Amino acid sequence: MAEREHEHVRVAVIGSGFGGLGAAVRLRRQGITDFVVLERAGSVGGTWRDNSYPGCACDVPSHLYSFSFAPNPEWPRNFSGQPHIRAYLERVTDTFGLRPHIRFDSEVRSLRWNGEELYWEVETASGSLTADVVVSATGPLSDPKVPDVLGLDSFPGKVFHSARWDHDYDLRGKRVAMIGTGASAIQIVPSIQPTVDRLTLFQRTPAWVLPRADRKISGLERWLHAKVPATRAARRGLLWGIRELQVSAFTKRPNELGLIERLAKGHMKRSVKDPVLRAKLTPDYRIGCKRILLSNSYYPALTQPNVDVVASGLKEVRGKVLVASDGTETEADAIVFGTGFHVTDMPIAHRVTGANGTTLAEEWKDGMEALRGTTAAGFPNFLTIIGPNTGLGNSSMILMIESQLNYLVDFMRQLDVLGGKIALNARPSAVHAWTRGVQKRMERTVWNTGGCDSWYLDSNGRNTTAWPGTTAEFRKVTRQVDLAEYEVLRVPAARRGERSAQTVKAVA
Ligand SMILES: Cc1cc2nc3c(=O)[nH]c(=O)nc-3n(C[C@H](O)[C@H](O)[C@H](O)COP(=O)(O)OP(=O)(O)OC[C@H]3O[C@@H](n4cnc5c(N)ncnc54)[C@H](O)[C@@H]3O)c2cc1C
Repeated sequence: MAEREHEHVRVAVIGSGFGGLGAAVRLRRQGITDFVVLERAGSVGGTWRDNSYPGCACDVPSHLYSFSFAPNPEWPRNFSGQPHIRAYLERVTDTFGLRPHIRFDSEVRSLRWNGEELYWEVETASGSLTADVVVSATGPLSDPKVPDVLGLDSFPGKVFHSARWDHDYDLRGKRVAMIGTGASAIQIVPSIQPTVDRLTLFQRTPAWVLPRADRKISGLERWLHAKVPATRAARRGLLWGIRELQVSAFTKRPNELGLIERLAKGHMKRSVKDPVLRAKLTPDYRIGCKRILLSNSYYPALTQPNVDVVASGLKEVRGKVLVASDGTETEADAIVFGTGFHVTDMPIAHRVTGANGTTLAEEWKDGMEALRGTTAAGFPNFLTIIGPNTGLGNSSMILMIESQLNYLVDFMRQLDVLGGKIALNARPSAVHAWTRGVQKRMERTVWNTGGCDSWYLDSNGRNTTAWPGTTAEFRKVTRQVDLAEYEVLRVPAARRGERSAQTVKAVA
């Protein structure tokens, strides 16, 4: 066997969306500069690089949907569009000096825990390295999901997913089938409806839609936010507080959501006069069970003469003809899938092999679980940003990401305090106790009791994605690493000192 030199880093961060970039900023602030950010694409931005479909925007106000440590007084709208959010993340990358750390075109293909050396062996599309700690920020909504539709291969027209929009294909004058009624679809429908010849919406389940309080942020407001930072902080605080107050209705008292349901019905009634169409668009589950969508233009678009709503999912494709589950047949030139992402079957989990020789996906075959949403038993020094049960239905994911980054910083601090070549492995008992607690609270939530089948639930019907509490509570439970929840692994004394700080000799 030949001896070969591996590059070694203290931390390997995977992904350069909000999670990966945030981790990079916090590591640098902590004085840790020996890290790399491994990104499979050619630029930063994650969600906001990949989703460039017409109408793409955040649905949590921008002043809350941004980093607390990188406020942006220049947000142009309450709900800023994808180009502005992407540009913001590019600016964060430059402002905090992150570029030298980032390796583009470096898809992580495998991660293997080396229990003798106590480091991760990382194989990427651009080479191999080893890392003491891995921060996986590969995103909860990163890998598009296209359903396995019979005959789809035979479709002679154009097919793409909302997160991989083909800007070279002109939809103008085409017969377009939009599959799905989730957060992306309801932004796409009103954006393309005016220019396509026909738009057929395949709706397996109707969504609850509320008005969207969007408007331009005036020059005066922006000036104030730039000159008097307290106004910006107050705005963010207000946006945050309103959402925190809503949490108990989602998690403890779903019946209180009836009032919101009435608002949503009124919203629909104002735009959709046809009672038959209204009946098709009215959900039969409690509002909040699936993500509540915000739009002022979705319902009006559906009432236009060039739009058909098929109240059924796409079952089969026969040449140019699309057949719905209820038998409806439609001819189309293009199919746009707004069918979501691999959420409960996190793709990176198949590529991570832990201390017991099993992959994270195998460990999670009965459902994802991680201590404080971050660390899994048997996967030492491996932290997942937006891990199991950290998702929110009504507020900014950046709040959750930043809480997990607090946890990461404390994790690094603990490793330093304990000293030497060590690793922290979450105790199975701690992980199970945490998961039991989360699942117990989940029983009362609208996601579990509201009568819908959503992407929050895995194939066993277990909710392994949502956080059943406030963001303040999550911040509290991730403030510090509790060492009692971890087993400390050490390299035997005789082996210490064999490795230099930057380079490790490994037998290939
Ligand atoms: C259309 C859309 C709108 C949204 N709107 C909101 C909103 O309004 N409010 C809100 O709170 N949340 C929203 N979200 C959720 C959003 O995903 C999160 O808020 C946040 O952007 C996630 O950041 P992330 O860094 O964890 O993941 P991502 O932004 O998905 O970044 C993950 C990165 O990891 C990279 N990667 C993945 N696998 C690998 C690999 N094996 N090797 C190397 N690199 C890899 C990807 O290329 C990507 O760059 C939205 C999501 C979508 C899809």
